[in-house]
Amino acid sequence: MPDPVSEHHEGMDASSDDIAETLHAKRTELLQQMGVLEEKPTDHGSISFGKRVGEGTSMAVDRLSQVAVHDRLQTTLADVERALAKLEESSYGSCDVCGEPIGAERLEALPWAVRCVEDAARR
Ligand SMILES: [Zn+2]
Repeated sequence: MPDPVSEHHEGMDASSDDIAETLHAKRTELLQQMGVLEEKPTDHGSISFGKRVGEGTSMAVDRLSQVAVHDRLQTTLADVERALAKLEESSYGSCDVCGEPIGAERLEALPWAVRCVEDAARR
């Protein structure tokens, strides 16, 4: 026999808590990934790089793509932080550009989406 109280319990508050948790976890992950990229020995010889012996060649080849990856991480981080702010100001789920709903499917795939598909593509 289903319990009507527990069914009612899954309201907006519970799901926005989940979203905040997802966003915070993503933020932490992005900061860690950016930290790893920034940690690579470039000008500074003082950082310990004993663990990465043998990766020198691929490191040089990957330099440009690392910069691109870092840029992407930074862009995503900005979106994650904006999405958290939107949660707080109760505008989460609305496009930052046109104000239209971003759409549940898009938010499910990309919880830190702050623009609708059209406006995100326009950038
Ligand atoms: Zn829009």
